[in-house]
Amino acid sequence: MSISQEVARRRTFAIISHPDAGKTTLTEKLLLFAGAIQIAGSVKARKASRHASSDWMEIEKQRGISVASSVMQMEYRGCVLNLLDTPGHQDFSEDTYRVLTAVDAALMVIDAANGVEPQTLRLLQVCRARNTPIITFINKLDREVQEPLNLLAEIESHLGMDAVPFSWPVGMGRLFGGVFDIRRNRMRVFRAGQERRGDHDEIIEGLDNPLIAERFGDSFAKAHEEIELIAAAAPAFDHAAFLAGRQTPVFFGSAINNFGVQEVLDALVDLAPKPGPRTALQREVQPEEPKFSGVVFKVQANMDPAHRDRVAFVRVSSGRFDRGMRLTVSRTGKEIRPNNVVSFLSQRRELVDQAYAGDVIGIPNHGVLQLGDVLTEGETLQFTGLPFFAPELFQAVEVKDPLRIKQLRTGLIQLGEEGAIQVFRPEAVGGSLLLGAIGQLQFEVVAHRLKHEYGVDARLMPSRYNMARWITSDDPKDLRKFMDANAAHIAYDVVDATAFLLSSPAQLRVAQELYPKVQFHVMREHG
Ligand code: GDP
Repeated sequence: MSISQEVARRRTFAIISHPDAGKTTLTEKLLLFAGAIQIAGSVKARKASRHASSDWMEIEKQRGISVASSVMQMEYRGCVLNLLDTPGHQDFSEDTYRVLTAVDAALMVIDAANGVEPQTLRLLQVCRARNTPIITFINKLDREVQEPLNLLAEIESHLGMDAVPFSWPVGMGRLFGGVFDIRRNRMRVFRAGQERRGDHDEIIEGLDNPLIAERFGDSFAKAHEEIELIAAAAPAFDHAAFLAGRQTPVFFGSAINNFGVQEVLDALVDLAPKPGPRTALQREVQPEEPKFSGVVFKVQANMDPAHRDRVAFVRVSSGRFDRGMRLTVSRTGKEIRPNNVVSFLSQRRELVDQAYAGDVIGIPNHGVLQLGDVLTEGETLQFTGLPFFAPELFQAVEVKDPLRIKQLRTGLIQLGEEGAIQVFRPEAVGGSLLLGAIGQLQFEVVAHRLKHEYGVDARLMPSRYNMARWITSDDPKDLRKFMDANAAHIAYDVVDATAFLLSSPAQLRVAQELYPKVQFHVMREHG
């Protein structure tokens, strides 16, 4: 197959939701329907075994949340689907934002009882900002849930895009009869099923088929009315509008019962885009180009505690990756020749032979690769758009045993590079290092990991800061003047970008007024 044929059959998407909406369950069912696993339960089982093998994951277990994101690849109808999981807990949203930069589409899972929840909302804002096409799956119709029309309205108002139902539920909860496929004009009858793929679902053709009306009575009468209402009121599906992030196709189902899952898989194949071009500072990179390029969007340390490795997750942007090929790190000009690169086929880590745009490969390394790094066959490229957000929570960090200061620094640099936390080094001499986070839980994870992975007992102390802004200016003299006047509040992050630390928004307003030529950024893009 040629490179462009390989690119054309790839779909790379993230699955996003509020915790407990059913993301893990749907992920597992997608794998099941794609034939990547035989019996449901393996994804959960894997989650559990990871807990057992890794100490710091205890935190995740205790809180019942998913801290680490992972990647899964499967084949379905001739397409290669790359599914990128995202941590549901809001304290890890930064990690999620970066995962979203590596995908071409998102699958949003909504709990039909709860509607659009706060965590989903934040993720959606990131998708919206990037115009990522979103496919919506409304889950748990086997429960007493909100009215489907209300759910649609809620999605529309929160997403600021049109919701176009492809299917419609007939009844809900105990009376859930199935979903009506609006486009194919037929109903798939609900049957509770747990583990295996239901190959023999009952299908009844036609909205006006008396069989449906007889069998599902009032539930169907209501659904029928609603479907007609939508046909009259909702906009028709427009593929271009979906690709531009202005419309989302909506599917109803019940993941735990394998119901409505097939439709979602088909939508990923039929509607979601193939990998697109990526913008670098130097030029636009086309996925079909012969030469390999890829970007590190996530670094995870010590995935396998037995090997103490760090794995850089690289999204392939162009060309073909071949095992054993030489790659250049654009930032440093260093050449690497990774020979144990892993892919994530059906969630096992396997050695990869070849990979194309849209695929994710994992490169174990000892710190040569950082977030945002670009790998090429020699060309210098720098991709834009890998976001870092200004932290909202700060703690000062010191080490209990002064002899371990070096280990503390090493640990913090690595965790900082991984994006687990932001580390700021004050300009003022003698100041303690500051940790910056978006969510409180990040501090706990970092303290835990410092202890277990680096043997450092860190003491975290309150800090007076609760805001940070990265500062730049076209006028270096003005910037210097500002920094001198505010020396006590200036700090540098892991890539030595200058930040201004503050304790109130009023302080920021004053600074902006006094120094109109200095720019204060809430977000820093890598590079
Ligand atoms: P995640 O936190 O988004 O990954 O959610 P999970 O997939 O772990 O699901 C959260 C809970 O909802 C679990 O107890 C699931 O068994 C349950 N669940 C998932 N899908 C459905 C569904 O379709 N119907 C019902 N009734 N429960 C579901």
